Amino acid sequence: KQTIDKIAAGEVIERPSSVVKELVENSIDAGASMVTVEIKDGGISLIRITDNGCGIDKEQVKIAFLRHSTSKIRSVDDLNSISSLGFRGEALSSIAAVSQVELITKTPRAFSGIRFFIEDGIAGELEEIGAPDGTTFLIRNLFYHTPARKKFLKSAQTEAGYINTLMQHLALSHPDISFQLIINNQPKLRTSGNGSLKDVIYQIYGRDVVKELIEVSFENEIFQMKGFIGKPVVSRGNRNFEHFFVNARYIKSQLLSKCVEDAYKLHLMQHQYPFCVLHLTFQGEMLDVNVHPTKMELRFEQPQLVYDAIVPAIKESLEEQEL
Ligand code: ADP
Ligand code: MG
Repeated sequence: KQTIDKIAAGEVIERPSSVVKELVENSIDAGASMVTVEIKDGGISLIRITDNGCGIDKEQVKIAFLRHSTSKIRSVDDLNSISSLGFRGEALSSIAAVSQVELITKTPRAFSGIRFFIEDGIAGELEEIGAPDGTTFLIRNLFYHTPARKKFLKSAQTEAGYINTLMQHLALSHPDISFQLIINNQPKLRTSGNGSLKDVIYQIYGRDVVKELIEVSFENEIFQMKGFIGKPVVSRGNRNFEHFFVNARYIKSQLLSKCVEDAYKLHLMQHQYPFCVLHLTFQGEMLDVNVHPTKMELRFEQPQLVYDAIVPAIKESLEEQEL
């Protein structure tokens, strides 16, 4: 069983940022309004994630670490919907198979908190301790007994960079949640969680980017699109500043990038990679998310409809700005 977990773990947990992604998505699913992530050594020696979500019941703690165990009710429909985050009941078992895990959790109805250690997939005892409502995970020494995997990691600084980028995407996808990232005791990112997407953009990219924003708001029978695009300014060499969220999930999409770039091109008569943060909300049946969840690539059932809607919507926003 432990071997199976280790193989499965490789699918879900490739690097420290995979741990952060899975655990923060769990915090979001747990209804947290605040999530703090602290890492040391690029997340290799320590990842600490604290949330103020619903906590885990004492009886559920050990169960949560079993493979394919999930408390999240998912209908058949749900399997086609991007709104349920992450893999299905595989994250905790996978993380526990490749690291030393400490969990402290308390539900609002419990009188005390619970502390639990699981290491190399082997569970310890449950201890009662004082703790605030919510959940803290401490992940130590990732891949400590799988050196082959550890060898594939980049430098601590590069791994920390991946986590920083991931946290930016998570913050942009949930302006209503306050996120904090601390790298080697230095605060790196903090969002207020006041619900304003513009404020999150400000907290990540600063004043110069916020000054240049154009608001976008569009809706048809198929989807809704809201967010901001940057005024055409400096030319960028890549798509790193194009951010797309579909049903509150960060995704990469050739199609959406092309839509926005083509709109700028029609407007400017030249190609550029714009800054944008666009949230799209679709009806489930319009999306094909049968794609490996870590790849973040998404296919649309009817790409032409999406293209034909977005290009003019973005172009109009650019034109209105000039009036
Ligand atoms: P999944 O998220 O697909 O259900 P996971 O392995 O990520 O599977 O988590 C297993 C279960 O552990 C979740 O279904 C949830 O009940 C519980 N859990 C994990 N993290 C948290 C958290 N931060 N707060 C509350 N419950 C959590
Ligand atoms: Mg999960």
